[in-house]
Amino acid sequence: MNPMPVREKLLGTVKADYDVCIIGSGAGAGPVAFELVNAGFNVVMLEKGKWYDERHFKKDEQLARHRIFKSQFDKERHVLEEPDGDGGWSRDTTGQFWGGNVVGGASNFMSAYFHRLKPTDFRLLSTYGAIEGATVADWPISYQQLEPYYDKVEKIIGVSGNALKHQFLEPRSSENYPMRPTAEHPIVKLFDRACKTLKFTPLPMARGILTKPMNGRNSCEYSGYCGSYGCHSGAKASSRAALLDSIKDKSNFTLLTQSKAYRLNSDKTGQATSVDYFDAKGRSKSITASRFVVACYSIESARLLLTSVGEKHPKGLGNNHSQVGKNLHCCAGGTGHGIFNLTERDDKFAKAMKIRGPFFNRFLQDWYQIDDKAVSAKPIKGGTLDFVFDPPSPTSDISGLKWQSNGELLWGSPLKQKIKAHFTQSKDFKFEVFCDWLTHDECYVSLAMDEKDAWGIPVAKVTAGFHPHDVKVAQYLVDKGVEVMKAMGADEAYGNVWTSPTSNLMAGGCRFGNDPKTSVLNANCQVHDCDNVYVTDGSFMPNGGSVTPTLTIYANAFRVADKIKASLVS
Ligand SMILES: Cc1cc2nc3c(=O)[nH]c(=O)nc-3n(C[C@H](O)[C@H](O)[C@H](O)COP(=O)(O)OP(=O)(O)OC[C@H]3O[C@@H](n4cnc5c(N)ncnc54)[C@H](O)[C@@H]3O)c2cc1C
Ligand code: SF4
Repeated sequence: MNPMPVREKLLGTVKADYDVCIIGSGAGAGPVAFELVNAGFNVVMLEKGKWYDERHFKKDEQLARHRIFKSQFDKERHVLEEPDGDGGWSRDTTGQFWGGNVVGGASNFMSAYFHRLKPTDFRLLSTYGAIEGATVADWPISYQQLEPYYDKVEKIIGVSGNALKHQFLEPRSSENYPMRPTAEHPIVKLFDRACKTLKFTPLPMARGILTKPMNGRNSCEYSGYCGSYGCHSGAKASSRAALLDSIKDKSNFTLLTQSKAYRLNSDKTGQATSVDYFDAKGRSKSITASRFVVACYSIESARLLLTSVGEKHPKGLGNNHSQVGKNLHCCAGGTGHGIFNLTERDDKFAKAMKIRGPFFNRFLQDWYQIDDKAVSAKPIKGGTLDFVFDPPSPTSDISGLKWQSNGELLWGSPLKQKIKAHFTQSKDFKFEVFCDWLTHDECYVSLAMDEKDAWGIPVAKVTAGFHPHDVKVAQYLVDKGVEVMKAMGADEAYGNVWTSPTSNLMAGGCRFGNDPKTSVLNANCQVHDCDNVYVTDGSFMPNGGSVTPTLTIYANAFRVADKIKASLVS
């Protein structure tokens, strides 16, 4: 295939360096590179981090989780504004919102809970109606249009699970997942019995984790250190392991690591012509291409568009209607715990509770729609409860244990006793609730003009107000989780609702839609007034569904790759 005529058509007599330049290498970028490189197009990818793979992902809590693979605060940061609880706003400079500064981005470190969205998530406004103060919108595409791509992703990257029938199961073209579910923790039996008593429907978790070897990747070794850790076996479906590894040596693919894009340039017609980036030595360089794909994680994608000012884009690329950065969202919800005192249980139970390795592997979706007059006169959108054993984090646990409930420090023997009891005498079993973080005018990304990164570029400011409706829904679901913990016999069971943003699950900020006045992208994820720029990370999502977003980001990126391919050959 020779796509040269397209480049010449787009850029006049100037020959572009590449057919497509992809910025970022995470979940929103990998599928586009994979599809276009395999179709023979000439692709360059700019990634600000380095290449790390299975050889580097050691299970060392401090090194692996926090230092090497993350952005450094003195170089890159964000400003976070949140409601202060007194009607005002607090402002802080934070290291949050960087999921992974490496090839494959945060997808290396995710837990890989891989739920699909459901048809109603694509029609939130028309199904449940407007909510005062929220900017809820329907998607410009339907679940049925995305479904073939969910199916494709599950097969290409290898998703394991068991699609059991239940009232909210989304329609599937393949009856089941391509791989059996991951191994189950023995305590699952107790959970299933408790759910049966409560008449809840326990479901096996779908994971972006291999349960049999595939394409040179090993199956899961149940290391017990999964979420927040890079995978040493290749089983986790990071963009790097599942997609980029297989194309990295192809002659039509160039991956430039330690290359941080900072501006997209556009011509007098408004089309993008080149991207400026800083290389590893801090030198400014430029690349031309006929198509550009932005996939830097929602906050950074909005930031890049906002800094890309041009003659036709005086407020930033695609921002003529002041929509870039708006409609930012994440997962609303909460966390709950069941504390099981092991000293008063029989040995068999205590031993089972202490087993590390197999996943807990259960979730509940009985309340994906809440139809309960005690909460609302009409049905409202609900959410998902995922049940988990957290990976052990001994040093951060100990760091928390040093504090007493009165806020004073504990030390010496009492601290040693507390640490011993924590690790040997009780077990904390956890659940996480995910529901919609409604989009509204007080949750958005803008540029903090008074705070620059190490390259002199204004950092992104995240203004993260939450909508009171989310708290009501989250509390309802947290209460259900606590009910389960109690039915399992927990000695203590409690939960909290989040009102701060889940910094690893951000999406939106460049919503797609049919109206340029209320969206940034069209249905193909092209910027409305600059159609050779596509945004393929979670920024496009008008709402996140009541699940973690990455399977949907992958599926949509495969869908957009098809649109880009079609545009390159037309
Ligand atoms: C600990 C953790 C657990 C998670 N668990 C789950 C889960 O269980 N299920 C789930 O669905 N999701 C989970 N996630 C979220 C998931 O990782 C993200 O949804 C997904 O990775 C987002 O994809 P992305 O392409 O938008 O961003 P990323 O995957 O983060 O990729 C963005 C990439 O762009 C690069 N980049 C940014 N700016 C620039 C620039 N200017 N120039 C060049 N490169 C740039 C970054 O370095 C990064 O590599 C988790 C995340 C974390 C951190
Ligand atoms: S538990 Fe499995 S998928 Fe997760 S990091 Fe370990 S080997 Fe990889």
